[in-house]
Amino acid sequence: MNYNRTQDIVKKYGFRFTKSLGQNFLTDESVLEDIVSGASVDKDDFVIEIGPGVGALTRELLEKAKAVCAVEIDNTLIPILKEELKEFPNFTLINDDALKIDFNEIIKDEKSVKLVANLPYYVTTPIVVKLLKEKYPFKSITIMIQKEVAERMNASAGGKDYGALSLLVKYYCKTEIIRKVSPACFVPQPKVESSVIKLEILEKPAVNVVDEKLFFEVIKSAFSMRRKTLSNSLKNLKYPQDIILSALENCGIDSRRRAETLSIEEFAALSDEIARKVND
Ligand code: SAM
Repeated sequence: MNYNRTQDIVKKYGFRFTKSLGQNFLTDESVLEDIVSGASVDKDDFVIEIGPGVGALTRELLEKAKAVCAVEIDNTLIPILKEELKEFPNFTLINDDALKIDFNEIIKDEKSVKLVANLPYYVTTPIVVKLLKEKYPFKSITIMIQKEVAERMNASAGGKDYGALSLLVKYYCKTEIIRKVSPACFVPQPKVESSVIKLEILEKPAVNVVDEKLFFEVIKSAFSMRRKTLSNSLKNLKYPQDIILSALENCGIDSRRRAETLSIEEFAALSDEIARKVND
């Protein structure tokens, strides 16, 4: 169903879209409902939204959550949001860049915190990397993103979509694709298909590693040349080749395999073995 409120607000304030800020606003009521129900938002939840736009998703969230704090970079949207959402005392708005924010300053001592957003596509990956690596106490992150990026986040070993982003997400979360969304659900329409994905944060990471930084370096290096064998791609690591080759052998991983065939457990074992050898 078409959600005319978005179009009406855009018209009422003569709002001009900034393409470089990834401004594609939702106009479809069913997508808004599916995002909020997919995120299982209820009256115990403090919700953080990145990029509220003119507030379509924000309004749905405000009706279901205890409170919503939205972070919007575009200062021309601030007076519009304040006016349009003034009936909600549980709404706060921050005019800032989500990439620069320390979310702990917003979260304070809130207990049940969920992040929900229709993310600007030009910064999806850096935002998700920041949200996960800075280890905020989110219960879940439910986001609409480009369909291909959602597939990469959701991918398992062996497929073409599997890569460093899949492993980062797998390390911290359980994933679920909630639905696909066509370009017709936005104004203006994006050129790409979208998906809503829910990342449920695990209580502890999926695998135990002795050195998290090294674990992610090994993954990055292994996928830096994804068509090459591990013995070649891992040359990018700063350690001597004999250490890498014997670590692979000790883990029972054939050095002729490619990164995309390794499970998260194998990456964990390999990075632990490299760490052990380096510290010997
Ligand atoms: N939530 C609205 C909706 O669903 O209709 C708008 C979503 S639109 C895809 C992305 C929003 O993120 C825009 O309002 C844009 O101005 C904002 N934005 C872009 N980059 C941002 C950043 N770095 N930090 C915070 N907001 C950002």
